[in-house]
Amino acid sequence: NNPEKAKLFAAKNPDLQIRSGLEGLNQAASMPEGDIVISAIVGAAGLIPTFTAAKAGKHIGLANKESLVMAGRLLRQHMGKNQELLPVDSEHSAIFQCLQGENVKDIKKIILTASGGPFREKTMEELSKVTKEEALKHPSWDMGAKITIDSATLMNKGLEVIEAKWLFNLRPEQIDVVVHPESIIHSMVEFVDGSVIAQLSVPDMRLPIAYALSFPERIPLQHKELNLAEIGSLNFYKPDMERFPCLRLAIEAMKGKGSCSIVLNAANEIAVDALLKDKITFNDIPRIIEKTLSQHKEKEVSDLNEVLEMDAWARKKAEKELKLKKIN
Ligand code: MG
Repeated sequence: NNPEKAKLFAAKNPDLQIRSGLEGLNQAASMPEGDIVISAIVGAAGLIPTFTAAKAGKHIGLANKESLVMAGRLLRQHMGKNQELLPVDSEHSAIFQCLQGENVKDIKKIILTASGGPFREKTMEELSKVTKEEALKHPSWDMGAKITIDSATLMNKGLEVIEAKWLFNLRPEQIDVVVHPESIIHSMVEFVDGSVIAQLSVPDMRLPIAYALSFPERIPLQHKELNLAEIGSLNFYKPDMERFPCLRLAIEAMKGKGSCSIVLNAANEIAVDALLKDKITFNDIPRIIEKTLSQHKEKEVSDLNEVLEMDAWARKKAEKELKLKKIN
């Protein structure tokens, strides 16, 4: 996404065709040779290329949560009957796997698991003093800075709740979250007869990526075997929305009109970026998001332009909140 770096890279690799910027992303997403596009850009930047892939009739392997968080209804409308939308996010891949051979109408609810992040056991008081460096250390998954901070605030789980709503066409009350620090159960589906099906494995992102690429088949992977006797016990807790208000804000946004999730996501991106630049503290993240959400009048969005306008509006408001914070 950086034209200067793309030029340097192209100069060193004369045999490769290098494209960059939004135009390059759109070209890659609609190449006639491809049947599946893996959308794995972090953040709102992944939105337009994902839609380009949808309009070009591609199957989509979705690792970019934001396409569904910001424009779930629209993306669904853009996907043809024969186009698969395959989750790459580990929790959603788990649910998707549990649903094979099942009927969506038989789902009572889904249960998304959350590792709880590095601050699972910290008190409110301790959370006010955590550093960016501590937030960047995730106990079970190795990911980029943005998602690692989102995992520490539980916003990652909040975005995943919204993602699940659109991916599996669920009502908000059909989505539950449970904290499961071992990250062995990647999510579960409860059916109307009380049966619960779960997908388990040692945490390894190659598995959901491979499943999206090989679906409906499975390809053998060199994986670490799951040894339950060695693990001994699996633990589960109710998430604490008071200590982790980002999850509460995301669930509220999911229940609101379409614009709420866009504003939530944009304000979060601004706040996380500010934390990474040492401009705010950990507990300021939900404060900035909540303040931005409180200034917005919710509405439905009917096209991609409206989504982008709402996103731009929310970013500006969140930036303003950041500046106000500095003066105080
Ligand atoms: Mg995930």
